Amino acid sequence: MESFLNSRKHDELDPDNMNGQDFMKKGDPAAFLIQSGPKICLAVLEVIGFRFKGERVLKTTAVIDDLEDTDKQIKIVGQIICLSMSSPKKESWDWNKHYMSLDIDSHDKRLMHRQYVLELASVLAYPLAPSLVTRPLSGSKLNESDYPTWRIPSEQLQLALDILWDSLEPESEKILGNVALLPSITNPAALPYRDIDENESLLVKDIPGCLLPQQKYSGKDILPCLLCGELTVLKDMRNHVGGHILRTFRESDAPDECIQQSIGDNPCGFCGLDNCLTQLLQKKSGGITITSNCQYHYVQMQYQAAAKFSRSSPCTNVPIHCPICPTSVSKAPQTIWKYNALFHLLSEHATGFTPPKIPRKLLADMHITKEEEKALKITEEVTDAWREEHNIPGTESLLEMMQAEDMQKRGRSDTVSTAFSDSHDPKRARIYAIPE
Ligand SMILES: [Zn+2]
Ligand SMILES: [Zn+2]
Ligand SMILES: [Zn+2]
Repeated sequence: MESFLNSRKHDELDPDNMNGQDFMKKGDPAAFLIQSGPKICLAVLEVIGFRFKGERVLKTTAVIDDLEDTDKQIKIVGQIICLSMSSPKKESWDWNKHYMSLDIDSHDKRLMHRQYVLELASVLAYPLAPSLVTRPLSGSKLNESDYPTWRIPSEQLQLALDILWDSLEPESEKILGNVALLPSITNPAALPYRDIDENESLLVKDIPGCLLPQQKYSGKDILPCLLCGELTVLKDMRNHVGGHILRTFRESDAPDECIQQSIGDNPCGFCGLDNCLTQLLQKKSGGITITSNCQYHYVQMQYQAAAKFSRSSPCTNVPIHCPICPTSVSKAPQTIWKYNALFHLLSEHATGFTPPKIPRKLLADMHITKEEEKALKITEEVTDAWREEHNIPGTESLLEMMQAEDMQKRGRSDTVSTAFSDSHDPKRARIYAIPE
């Protein structure tokens, strides 16, 4: 610990600007969000160095533009500093020169370094501009021997908290994956930081319900369909609900089919209602994880099997990625439910008369076969009419089109042009113009 304490210098607090580029360097402070038990709060670290992708040796400086670039995959290595309020006025916080243990439950002395040092994706950090002060403020109970030290205005820390929280997109399903990127700490006495009255401070006040621990049902649990009330085992619920969704979208639903509640505009594939957040994440290893705050989220669902038509479970409505939507801070693409893909494209990506280019992977991902529609009690006439209205190709056309594209030379566009009708009604918009 001493060596960490002695390693810092206080003579480098000038604005960091080199050749007109802003940069961050070893010894600088940066704010970031951290999970402390069920809480998400602000922490400030002192930078030890920067780990660039594929490099073993830490760098001592990094350009801010690079740190903000998700493609660069830079990690900030640092130690969390202990902050106390400077005075009863609550206008600023001072560092008492101590660092914070990341795990008070760990008693392994050999892991000393690891107990204090953490690595953080640089896109999750927010540079701070403290001032160097030589003595405590009047009215402060802080120890004079800890000075000179940093002083950071409360306003600056609150702003950092707000900006960092917003960057995780708390209103979207991406919050689920983004929060998983945050480091965590087992030291509830140290974080959240306490204000001068010992009240927890600088923490996220309204954590969305989806981030709170939730009890999940098992696949065998028998639950009522929230749309029609029929008792269904959870592992079959997605298939059951998928039938309601597809019949509603094809206007083939029986008049009293959903007597409990009507289907959402952008329905959750697990329960059929609006407002559930579900995120599909693809791991580097190729594995797939699905996170959801839906009460009917079937955790054991096998993605590949669920996405495949079978006689016993015809519904292939699974979370897929929209490659057109901008990605989030974690680079995670937007998740949509397969059956909602057309609604999503029309509501999110149709700008005036400029048709969106649809990557062909999405075209394939969103394709529903006639076999599936038939198994979900949609007549062939209805499917044909719907496909014609929206200019959706059949399976054979889609396969032919993709094969033809495969045979063409590389370097050509990986997208398919769309041909919207002249109608102002987006519902009549045409997705693309390849006849069946
Ligand atoms: Zn039902
Ligand atoms: Zn749901
Ligand atoms: Zn999209």
